[in-house]
Amino acid sequence: MSQRALVTGAGGFIGSHLVTYLRRQGWWVRGVDQKRPEFGETDADEFLVGDLRDPAVATAACEGIDEVYALAADMGGMGFISRDPATILHNNALINLNTIRAAQQAGVGRYFLASSACIYPEHIQDTPDATALREADAFPANPQDSYGWEKLMAELLCRYYHEQYGMEVRVARYHNIYGPEGTYDGGREKAPAAMCRKVALAPAGGAVEVWGDGSQTRSFCYVDDCVEGTYRLMRSDHREPLNIGSDRLVTIDELARLVFAAAGRDDLGIEHVDGPQGVRGRNSDNTELRRVLGWEPAVSLEKGLLETYRWIAEELAARGAA
Ligand code: NAD
Repeated sequence: MSQRALVTGAGGFIGSHLVTYLRRQGWWVRGVDQKRPEFGETDADEFLVGDLRDPAVATAACEGIDEVYALAADMGGMGFISRDPATILHNNALINLNTIRAAQQAGVGRYFLASSACIYPEHIQDTPDATALREADAFPANPQDSYGWEKLMAELLCRYYHEQYGMEVRVARYHNIYGPEGTYDGGREKAPAAMCRKVALAPAGGAVEVWGDGSQTRSFCYVDDCVEGTYRLMRSDHREPLNIGSDRLVTIDELARLVFAAAGRDDLGIEHVDGPQGVRGRNSDNTELRRVLGWEPAVSLEKGLLETYRWIAEELAARGAA
């Protein structure tokens, strides 16, 4: 009989890609989420719709499961994260507390937590020429927002479940994951998807809005690399948190220009407007990733943005919006 995996947040962006990936690796997969995938049908063998803030849902989800991939989170881009800090901490803490306890009680063999680059201290991310973040930089802790603090608590929870119960835990710190089938409007979308939507909807010769002065920097990792890295980490024996991200740093203005190129829109300009920007600069240091997994993300930003742009433009066209 094939091994059984649970993916929480399986109705979300990375979760639904991970379900597809695990099925291709031969796993039987149960998904759980408070909603079914927004774009297309799930590939999961079984899909539970439920709220993981309720411990009974977490217990039902973990029953008979060999490995858990904990991706469920109340989250969004900078606009969302900076608006509702109490709700984010409350909801995500409940989800993570319930899920890991249910997994331990069900005798789950291996537990994966999707953590985030948002756990890194704000004061080492205050210049656009961002020093790449190493795993060891997490402490002394000073994340920028409640989302980062909660992820840090969830990381510690994994460490303590290992210490107290011997549970095998794996923790990835994702850095700005993007790709097709991610949210692209409604207020929770991230920068690459928002940029693709704005470009697809821009009139000829128009300008695309960028929050802030556009020189804040980030690195962006394509979703296929993210799920492959996640699976490789799960198969490794590495219990410490590990970055999964790209180490190619770009400004948000450069990101906009790359999307213009992907769309073949050399008629567009950039208009800087007020908006939440997050930290000034953030990059992933992949030294540890290469050492531990002998692997790192491979999909170029140009190729990834082309795939993402095409998908969002088609979605908008199908909705009659573009
Ligand atoms: P997403 O919002 O698309 O997926 C999260 C899913 O969790 C959603 O489908 C949502 O419905 C579900 N969820 C929220 N609250 C729930 C609840 N109470 N019960 C059950 N399900 C609930 O986000 P994503 O981009 O796919 O992110 C997946 C994971 O990766 C999250 O833990 C996120 O914090 C982490 N992460 C993502 C990124 C990124 O750039 N996308 C970066 C760092 C970390």
